[in-house]
Amino acid sequence: MSVGVWVLGDQLWTGQAALQACDRHTPVLMIESIAHAQERPFHLQKIVLVWSAMRHFAEELRSQGWQVDYAIEESFEAPLIQWIRARQITELRIMQPVDRPFQQMLQAWELPCKVSIVPSNRYIWQDDEFVNWAKSRKRLIMEDFYREGRRRFNILMVGDQPKGGKWNFDRDNRKPPKGKLTLPEALWFEPDKITQEVIDWIKNDDRFAKSQEYWSIEPFRWGVTRKQALQVLEFFIETRLSDFGPYQDAMVTGEQTMWHAMLSPYLNIGLLHPLEVVEAAATAYETNSHWDLSSVEGFVRQVMGWREYMHGVYVYADDDYRDRNWFGHDRPLPGFFWTGETEMNCLHQIISQVRETGYAHHIQRLMVLNNFALISGISPQEIESWFHAAFVDAYDWVMQTNVIGMGQYADGGLLASKPYAASANYINNMSNYCRNCTYSPKVRTGDRACPFNFFYWNFLDRHRVRLKDQGRISLILRSLERFSDEELAAVRQEAIDWQE
Ligand SMILES: Cc1cc2nc3c(=O)[nH]c(=O)nc-3n(C[C@H](O)[C@H](O)[C@H](O)COP(=O)(O)OP(=O)(O)OC[C@H]3O[C@@H](n4cnc5c(N)ncnc54)[C@H](O)[C@@H]3O)c2cc1C
Ligand code: SF4
Repeated sequence: MSVGVWVLGDQLWTGQAALQACDRHTPVLMIESIAHAQERPFHLQKIVLVWSAMRHFAEELRSQGWQVDYAIEESFEAPLIQWIRARQITELRIMQPVDRPFQQMLQAWELPCKVSIVPSNRYIWQDDEFVNWAKSRKRLIMEDFYREGRRRFNILMVGDQPKGGKWNFDRDNRKPPKGKLTLPEALWFEPDKITQEVIDWIKNDDRFAKSQEYWSIEPFRWGVTRKQALQVLEFFIETRLSDFGPYQDAMVTGEQTMWHAMLSPYLNIGLLHPLEVVEAAATAYETNSHWDLSSVEGFVRQVMGWREYMHGVYVYADDDYRDRNWFGHDRPLPGFFWTGETEMNCLHQIISQVRETGYAHHIQRLMVLNNFALISGISPQEIESWFHAAFVDAYDWVMQTNVIGMGQYADGGLLASKPYAASANYINNMSNYCRNCTYSPKVRTGDRACPFNFFYWNFLDRHRVRLKDQGRISLILRSLERFSDEELAAVRQEAIDWQE
């Protein structure tokens, strides 16, 4: 029996289950598929990040004595079959791919050897552990899952009680960006020779023409090795974690990262493991007990709560989850999502930042980009497709749950407790974007009316029946009752007439 391992581009960690199941004499294959990178107009920096990280990981494995073969080909299937034959592999081991479309593609191939899928160890919770937890509940609630995780993995606990006597400090973490804030620097890297080779190739290859039209490839400043990812983690803990909480939801013009961790690109390709990230944060708190617990707890909740929950729901949900459209929204995606050319300053600022970096923080994604799509009635599948192309950390598992589920509420509330819909009031309070905008956040209809206002009220009006049982949002519906007939008619008309 001759075993071989295929390491996928989001499994770049020597502790990953398929490598752990073999010794260092086992041949390893890695493949860059050009067709896979062209499936949608991916951000150029995402392609560079993944391919450069793969090439660095191949070097790391070789330096540890593994025999690594590296293919740059059109597809995955042909070089894989060729390698199996050339290396006379009789059993191919692959760590369970996380994304469903990839799993389905793999199942459809007829490979000339036995294929063993090794259960994944890249999340804190194993797939079957989450499914068992979910089946034991009447309703999926992230907070219950998060508390169970804190207990099970003993993070920020004193015996069986949460540190500080409370599980959740979310209410302390919603400060608007008022006054003069001193924001921390982010840790970025210069491209090395390997990264520069990938950049030079992709920016000059016509096969990536669509991506070249939309996204900047340089300056490319992401880390591409585990060593760099660990530096980002350490830097975050030393310079940002203690203040992560209070301004978690704030947005400031020209400030791309605020106090956010910038860890998702590395977590999502396996350069970091989520458990080591939360353990590092909890350990730092032990030695710095003067730090604000709400900041540390807020961060742990993101990784051990939200991230694990999103992955678990993706595993648990039915195959048709991606097609859900509870509100029946069908407006096409406006062209400015690709160019950033819009008079709406909040969208202009954030989309321009995404074009430059492939990154935006959570509230920019949820309460501006996604909120606009939700209230204006854009098709959930169109906005999901845009997010998937635009972000350096986008993968199918994190897209379906965050965009179809949390963002668009297209699953009718399987995942989130309410639709994340808001008017300009929220954006005006949590950012300084409105100060330099053509529109006024205070105006609902007429020339200077902010589109977030008429779309918001129109959204509530259109979906009154569906929303009346949706918890907190049902209370806001009562405000609609106070609209005069003329005002409601004007809101409806603005929403119909709007175009950019
Ligand atoms: C509409 C929408 C689209 C999103 N698209 C992506 C995406 O493509 N890829 C992605 O990894 N995350 C996505 N998220 C989740 C979250 O916004 C990003 O993980 C986060 O902004 C990454 O930046 P950061 O590392 O600085 O995060 P921080 O704000 O510092 O948070 C720390 C970590 O928590 C994790 N996390 C927090 N919330 C989530 C969540 N809801 N889902 C998954 N992980 C979470 C991330 O790993 C993140 O690195 C999306 C959220 C929304 C609402
Ligand atoms: S006024 Fe409206 S469009 Fe302009 S920045 Fe504020 S929320 Fe965005």
